[in-house]
Amino acid sequence: MQQNYKMELLKRMLHYLRNYKINIVLVVLAHCLYAVFSIFTLSMVVPFLSVLFEQVQQVSARPEFSLTSRYVIDTFYYYMGVVIARFGKVSALFYIAGVMIVLSLLSNLCRYMAMFWLAPIRSGILRDMRHDLYKRILVLPLSFYSEQRKGDIISRMGADVQEVEWSIFASLLSLCRDPFLIIVFLVTLFAINVPLTLITLVLLPILGYVLAAIGRGIKKYSLKSQQLLGRMSSLFEEAVGGLRVIKGYNAEEHAYEKFQHENFQFFRLNKKVFRINELGAPLVEFLCILSLLLISLTALVWLPSSQTLTGTMFMLYFVVFARIIPPAKALVSTYYTLQKGMTAASRVYEIIDADERIVECEQPVSIDKLKEAIEYKDVSFDYKEGESDEENQVLHHINLDIKRGQTIALVGPSGSGKSTLVDLLPRFYDIVQGQLLIDGVPVNKYRISDLRSLFGIVNQDVILFNDTVFNNIAFGLEGVTEEQVISASKIAQAHQFIMEMEEGYQTVIGDRGMRLSGGQRQRLSIARAILRNPDVLILDEATSALDNESEFLFQEALMPFVKTKTAIIIAHRLSTIRFADEIVFLKEGRIVERGTHDELMAAQGEYFRFYTAQA
Ligand code: ADP
Ligand code: MG
Repeated sequence: MQQNYKMELLKRMLHYLRNYKINIVLVVLAHCLYAVFSIFTLSMVVPFLSVLFEQVQQVSARPEFSLTSRYVIDTFYYYMGVVIARFGKVSALFYIAGVMIVLSLLSNLCRYMAMFWLAPIRSGILRDMRHDLYKRILVLPLSFYSEQRKGDIISRMGADVQEVEWSIFASLLSLCRDPFLIIVFLVTLFAINVPLTLITLVLLPILGYVLAAIGRGIKKYSLKSQQLLGRMSSLFEEAVGGLRVIKGYNAEEHAYEKFQHENFQFFRLNKKVFRINELGAPLVEFLCILSLLLISLTALVWLPSSQTLTGTMFMLYFVVFARIIPPAKALVSTYYTLQKGMTAASRVYEIIDADERIVECEQPVSIDKLKEAIEYKDVSFDYKEGESDEENQVLHHINLDIKRGQTIALVGPSGSGKSTLVDLLPRFYDIVQGQLLIDGVPVNKYRISDLRSLFGIVNQDVILFNDTVFNNIAFGLEGVTEEQVISASKIAQAHQFIMEMEEGYQTVIGDRGMRLSGGQRQRLSIARAILRNPDVLILDEATSALDNESEFLFQEALMPFVKTKTAIIIAHRLSTIRFADEIVFLKEGRIVERGTHDELMAAQGEYFRFYTAQA
């Protein structure tokens, strides 16, 4: 990654923190208090040990109030002296223990409060990122999804967002906590003994560096492991989604082997990650002991005897020193955590930044009705943008007029571009060449939402949602009455089978309508289109899953409705489009014949051959 791209990414990641400023201040505050209280708690070791070994410093008079640590310590020792004098040594130990319990309670309360205030930040980042991503996914053009694999996008929404959230959270936690811990601990160390602490200061960065190096090793592998995990989850998805085909074609063995291979690679990589990961703790401990020995030996050899510490102070020194290592390590590894987060963030932002391509123009024209005509003027189109040569083109120089109220039929072999031709109307894709006009205005000048509500589209692949029949038909519409839904269903010949279901219109149809037959699903999606009462009805092989007889019944019911609309009908069964005002025959992206049924039959061309082959 380039340096300024990284900075850009980091800025955007941090942008998610903008709403949580107060919380961040609170978190820092709580951590500062935590650092102070925990150092006090640790310091209690000194009086405890000195009472135990009867080396108590005597403070005879109650000290004058001042805001110094000396005052606090002296006051503490004064009262301890009082306790020892009156109640004896054991009671003094209880007194110290009591103070220690209170301090420890306070320090841990602060620590908890820091996490308490961090929680909304953490879950908020997750919510905000998913929110941005989902909104983006709805906006991005259909063409984006044919280029990118669905499993990959889903893994980005899940694992990568989680990774970004984790890295922001971990870095934030570390930055709000560790510097203060380190400062407080270092100040304490200096207070105990200056020369020793100077040695410590030299050792600390070295320790931090070694530990961070381990972190780097982990990072390298965990990136790969992230990618493998994405691949594996798409395999799972494929297996569940394509189970019917896998079973039907006896391909269990093949699918299993493919999975087995990925799983094994994942296993090997994960093993490495875990092993490196677990290297951290033992190494820290070992290095800690090493540095402690180094420090104490240095102290022994070089320090003048006046500077040496009492046994109890030495203990305290070691305890505090050991406590300084984890925050030092965490602070250094924050760098790598952020790097890891940025890798994930770049995958997330690839989606968020993906080109919208289908964008609304500056001053969109509104439209609520088709007044005159839809005109294709010399329209060419290809799915591969950029490399637009004749060869890639799916549609070549299409000229077609559809007048208001007309019914136009598109016919042709599969792959000839019929679906593509109608997908251009609601701007699922934008044309590459020529002009596509509605009432004389190019489609890209209209407000996109207006344009799309002009059309009611029924495709050959029906998309149903895991919801009730009613909601599937009323999908996207507000305030629809039961009567409206029923009357639309009646036109679509769906009412009868819906009423036969357990709970009628309130039956939940299961994931993607698995519990319905192909024909039933198609009729539901036709009802959905009819309910919207669109100005232009587009039926793209909408009846392909119906048998001959139900298609005939269907025609009977639907045709009166179609007659009142402008309609574009794509049908593979030619008997259903004989009545069309114009039949357009497409072949390899070109219009090769056009006319009424009778005209085309008389011409004895492509349509004639197509028709007689079916009859
Ligand atoms: P028809 O509906 O007449 O069967 P289509 O319009 O679906 O044909 O497809 C026309 C051509 O465009 C085909 O060659 C097909 O492979 C190609 N095509 C269709 N959809 C896409 C897509 N999303 N991305 C790339 N090529 C596509
Ligand atoms: Mg098609």
